[in-house]
Amino acid sequence: MSVFDGLVGQEMAAHELQVAVTDAQLVLGGQAGPAMTHAWLFVGPPGSGRSLAARAFAQALQCKEGGCGQCKDCLDVANRTHPDVVMTEPVGVHYGVEDVRELVAQASGSPIRGRWRVFILEDADRLESQQMDWKPANVLLKAIEEPAPHTVWILCAPSLQDVIATIKSRCRVVSLRTPSASEVTEVLITKYGAEPELAAAAARISQGHIGQARRYVRDEDTRNRHSDVMNLPASLTTLDACIEAAAQFVEAADERMKDSVKGRDTQEREDVRQVYGVGARGIEARGVAKALNDLEKTQKRRAKRARSDAVDLALLDLLSFYRDVLMVQWGADVSLINEEFVTQLHAAAAGASPEITMRRIEEVLRTRATLSGNAAPRLVLEALFATLRDPAVAH
Ligand SMILES: [Zn+2]
Repeated sequence: MSVFDGLVGQEMAAHELQVAVTDAQLVLGGQAGPAMTHAWLFVGPPGSGRSLAARAFAQALQCKEGGCGQCKDCLDVANRTHPDVVMTEPVGVHYGVEDVRELVAQASGSPIRGRWRVFILEDADRLESQQMDWKPANVLLKAIEEPAPHTVWILCAPSLQDVIATIKSRCRVVSLRTPSASEVTEVLITKYGAEPELAAAAARISQGHIGQARRYVRDEDTRNRHSDVMNLPASLTTLDACIEAAAQFVEAADERMKDSVKGRDTQEREDVRQVYGVGARGIEARGVAKALNDLEKTQKRRAKRARSDAVDLALLDLLSFYRDVLMVQWGADVSLINEEFVTQLHAAAAGASPEITMRRIEEVLRTRATLSGNAAPRLVLEALFATLRDPAVAH
């Protein structure tokens, strides 16, 4: 077994990384290993498995067997407890300069237990922001230009265009592709033991997003939330119903957000207490209070982002609904994403013209853009649903 086996539909990338791991061994032994380098950029659409690939690479670099998936090093990386593998993501919309400085400071040290110091940066497209003079990307750039020995940076981003040129040019690029529905179905059945029918539905609905497909198969709440979105358009009969639907939409996003941050928040609080020792007094106790306070702020920012991500995912589900409606209206010979909801799709198709469906799609897209800029979701969604109910009143 190899940690690279879990990368669905990424044979090319997996091969490239395995060759790099072999060369990394040579580098550790003081020889040349041209396939290994200290800065990597993993690009692929959301759900293609960028984070999984980065994690597998980190495991393989630390593991004496090149990524067996079973040893302490492999397991610690998987559980985010390996002292030499740091996985990070922006807490808010962008990375903060201070956060990146801290990473760079950590990167100057030697490996503690492992063979390499590995830093995985999710969402490397959020390293720069127009408002900042001193951009986090510049801080990182210095570290990548003059790397400490045995330090490896792995940056993950949706596409090459999203990463600034100066960083991009110093990284070796690994491209990941969106796995096909049949590849996702297969892995859900063989690896996660899903029933074939459910696996096929999950693969279609998640549109190649492995993590979401897995959640759909395993978690009934996720399936119920999707089904609620499919039933939403037909429920928008009156303005009161639109207001009610917006409230429920936000509530569902809250639940989803809580699911996604719960375990990690508790673990982090526990870690702080462990570091300071349980029942600390005096100066120590003040240290605990401050650390917990800082942690709480970080967790609040993260929860906010997780919540807006959850709203966005539900809006993407809604988009897939109207996309299917349009396909039905056009009589297009393509498979429907939400085949299980064919009754709702046909009802919606019969109740509107393709032009109106297009208007609705535009409105959902517009709402996604509005919400990405910090607007209060509930009001924006009320407006959206009122417009979906009757597109004639739109702008
Ligand atoms: Zn291992």
